[in-house]
Amino acid sequence: MLALQGDFEAHGTALRLAGADAVEVRSADQLSGVDGLIIPGGESTTMLKLINEEGLFDPIRLFGQRRPVFGTCAGAILLATGVSNPSQESLHLMDIDVERNAYGRQVDSRIGQLRPQGIDHDLEAVFIRAPIIRRVGPEAQVLASYEGDPVLVEQGRHLVATFHPELSGDSSIHKLFLEKIGENA
Ligand code: GLN
Repeated sequence: MLALQGDFEAHGTALRLAGADAVEVRSADQLSGVDGLIIPGGESTTMLKLINEEGLFDPIRLFGQRRPVFGTCAGAILLATGVSNPSQESLHLMDIDVERNAYGRQVDSRIGQLRPQGIDHDLEAVFIRAPIIRRVGPEAQVLASYEGDPVLVEQGRHLVATFHPELSGDSSIHKLFLEKIGENA
């Protein structure tokens, strides 16, 4: 997982729970040694700044043309094509548009119950200053919605969640991403 900013350590724990080797990626060199990349939650503007400072913007885009990338919350914002509230540069790896901090300032975080497609039980979804996915392109598929908005979306080898699957103690969504890595190999 990308380990520049945000809650990458919790993703490491969830990945190990799901049976994978978790590697912290901070350079293009390290990126070239992994089979998939998780971009964690955190603060997308700060993460983008660090990605640019480390010269990782183009390497991540190129990586995503061959390998699976999973973005959660801030990571989903970075993977999107269109970003609003406010707008910022993004990787365009998923054909979705997102609105940042879209649940409003009053409700900073909330917990919902979801039953994503392909998962046989309910999951707890933790939303923290989450974006809302406002547009889903024709190539993308919604795997779960919450209050009518898509919250888990896949497009080919890529996956985004507007919530934090690494914080629920259930590694099903990480397993789903590992399956994508397996299929892509
Ligand atoms: N609000 C953050 C942003 O816009 C995302 C929050 C999160 O990742 N939990 O970058």
